Amino acid sequence: MATTVVSTTCTMDCPDACALQVTVTGGRIAKISGGTESSNGHPNTNGYICDKIQRFDRRVYHADRLLYPMRRSGPKGSGRFTRITWDEAFSEIVARFQDVIARYGAEAILPYHYGGSNGMLGNGFLDSFFFARLGASQLARTLCAAPASEVSMGMYGKMPGVAYEDYPAAKCIIIWGANPKVANIHLMPYLRQAKRNGAFITSVNPVDNFSAQEIDLHIPVYPGADLPLALAMINYWRENGQLANDFLAAHTDGAETLLEEAARWPIERAAAAARVNASDIVTLARRYAELSPAVVRVGWGPERNLNGGQAIAAIMAMPALMGKFGLRGGGYTFSNSGAAKIDTKQIFGDVPWTTRTINMSRIGQVLMDDPGDRISPPIRAMFVYNVNPVATAPDQNRVIAGFSREEVFTVVHEQVMTDTCLYADILLPSVTFFEQYEIKRGYGSYIVGGVQPVIEPCGEARSNEQVFAELGRRMGFRDEPFTWDTETCMKKVAESFVMHGRPADPAPLFSGQAQTYDFPGKTPTQFGNAMPQNAERKAHLTPAGLGPHPYEYHPVESAEYPLALISPSNSKMISSTMGEFNYPELFVTLNPADAASRRILEGSLVRVFNELGEVVCRANLSERLRAGVAAIPKGAWRKSSRNGQTSNALSPAHVNVVAGGACYNDARVQVELA
Ligand code: SF4
Repeated sequence: MATTVVSTTCTMDCPDACALQVTVTGGRIAKISGGTESSNGHPNTNGYICDKIQRFDRRVYHADRLLYPMRRSGPKGSGRFTRITWDEAFSEIVARFQDVIARYGAEAILPYHYGGSNGMLGNGFLDSFFFARLGASQLARTLCAAPASEVSMGMYGKMPGVAYEDYPAAKCIIIWGANPKVANIHLMPYLRQAKRNGAFITSVNPVDNFSAQEIDLHIPVYPGADLPLALAMINYWRENGQLANDFLAAHTDGAETLLEEAARWPIERAAAAARVNASDIVTLARRYAELSPAVVRVGWGPERNLNGGQAIAAIMAMPALMGKFGLRGGGYTFSNSGAAKIDTKQIFGDVPWTTRTINMSRIGQVLMDDPGDRISPPIRAMFVYNVNPVATAPDQNRVIAGFSREEVFTVVHEQVMTDTCLYADILLPSVTFFEQYEIKRGYGSYIVGGVQPVIEPCGEARSNEQVFAELGRRMGFRDEPFTWDTETCMKKVAESFVMHGRPADPAPLFSGQAQTYDFPGKTPTQFGNAMPQNAERKAHLTPAGLGPHPYEYHPVESAEYPLALISPSNSKMISSTMGEFNYPELFVTLNPADAASRRILEGSLVRVFNELGEVVCRANLSERLRAGVAAIPKGAWRKSSRNGQTSNALSPAHVNVVAGGACYNDARVQVELA
C-alpha cells in the first residue's frame, strides 16, 4: 500500500495553529505528527502536538461520523434519521426556507454558527454572503471572546501581542486566567526557559495548574473577581507614585476614569472580594512594578462573567499604566488574530446586511419566545454549522426546549452525530480539516497556515463553501461567488490576506505550508514595530464598549447556592470537539474542604444543582481547586453525565454588558450526595 506524508495545519480552536505532518497509508490516516520549521515553515510547533490531535483519526473514522445527508424520521431528539441524497436535502432546505420567507420574512431564518475550529473559507465567507443575500437575521457570536475582543479592539485596535518566542526575555510573567498546559501547549517551553532565566512567574486562576518548580506565585482568584484584583494592583501603583506618567501622557487616553474606579479598591477590600491573601496582591504588584520586561498572558477565563469585559480591560491596561511596552518580551499577549486581515468587501463587494442581530448566548430564550426575548418575526428556520449549542450554549435545558420545537425547521451541517444533530430536521455531512483545503489564521502563533486534503472526503461529506455555493444557486441567486469552486475560494482568500500590512504570499498556503510575518523581524515589539491599530495609534484605556459604568464591579452571590461553578478547558476536548469519545464520564471537581462538609468522598455520586438544572455525576477531590468553587469540564456531551445534563445546564443565560458575552462562570450551585 502506498504511503505518503502530507503537510497541513491544524484548524482547531487553539492559539497554537500547529504545523502537521500526516502519514497516509492506502488512503487512510496512519499517523499524525507535529511539523517543524523545515518541514512546514512553522516557527514554534517544533515537532510535537497535543494528544487530542495526535488521535484525531478517531473522529475522522468514528462510528458516529455523518457520511451522507439524512432527514429526521422520529420526534426531535430521538436520533431517528433516514438517508437521503444531497439533491433531496438541498431541495427540501430551499422549499422550507422559501416557505418561511413567504410566511414570516427572511429574518425568521437564523444562521447559528461559530468559527473557532475553522479556517477562513468555512466561516464568515460564502456562508455570510449567502445569509446576507437572503436577508436572514444576523448572529452575535458571544459564546467566547466577545467581550475580550471588544475591549482589545477598543483599547489597542487588536495590536499584535508578545510572541511566545519572546517570553524567555521577560523578567516578570503573569498568566492570568489561562491554562497553557492544556490549551496553549507551545507556550510552555518558553515559560520554562523564562523560569530558568530567572523570571518571576505568577498564575492568577481559581485552579492551581502549575507545580512549585514552574511558577513563583499562585493567586487563586474567586471566579468573577478578577476585576477588583486588577483594580487594587492599579490603585497600589497609583498610591505609590509608580505610574508611567510620561507614557500615559504621550500614548494613552482614558486613564483618569480607570484610576478613579481603582481608587475605590484598597488592597484589603479587593482581597476580600477576590477571596485571596492581601499580601499576595502586594507581592504581585511590587514584582510587576520592579521587573522589566514584564508580560501578561491574558486568557479568556476572566471574561466569562458579568464583570468579564471590565476585568479584561483592567488587566490589559496594566502594561500601559506601568510603561511596560517598547521592550522585547514586554506588554501583553491576547488573541493575535488581528495581525492578519482579510477584506471581504474586496472579495464580495459591498453587500449590505442590516437585519436584526440575535445573541447566540440566549438562543434557548429566543426560540422559546420568553418574555424579554420575544421577537417578531419569530425564528422559524435555523442553519447550524461549526458549533454544537446543545452542549455548549448557556442554560442547556432552555436550549434543548427551543431546539425541540417542531415549528422551527433546523438544518445541521456537522462531522459527527453531536448533541445538537439529534434535533435537526435535515443533517448534512461535513468534511473534517483533513479532507479539505482551508487557510488558518493563528491567533497565538504568528502564522497563516495552509490546509490541504490529507485524505478523500469520507462518505459524501462536503465543505462549508461547497454547501453554501450550491444553496445560493438553488435559491436562484445569480451572484458570481455562488459559482466559485474551492480552488477559486482559496485563491480569493489567499490573495486578499494582509499580514501586518504586507500582502501574504499565496503559494505556500496551497501546499499546507505556514506563512510567517515580517513586522519587520519575526516577532512584534508592542509600541516598537507594532503600534495600536487605531487611527490615533494610542491606547484608549477606557474604551467605549465598557458601557456607561466602566470598571464598576458587580459581585454575583447566592446564599442558597454557595459554590461558584466554572468549566475550564481540559486535555480531552477542544470546546465540545472529541466529546463523542474522549470524555466518557463526567466528574465534578471539589476542594476537599467543601467535599468534607458535605460528606462527599472521592468517587461519590453527587448532584450538582441550582434553579436551572442538575448534573448527576461522580466527584473528584482536588486541593488544586480553591475552596468555594466547583469545576465541571467545558464542552462535555450529554451522554457523559448520569442524567444527560452538563455544566451548561447550570449556566445562566444573562450576558455581559460588554458585547453581550456569555457568563458561564456566574453559575452558582449546591452539591450534595445523590
Ligand atoms: S489543538 Fe492546538 S496544540 Fe493541538 S495540534 Fe491543534 S493547534 Fe496544536
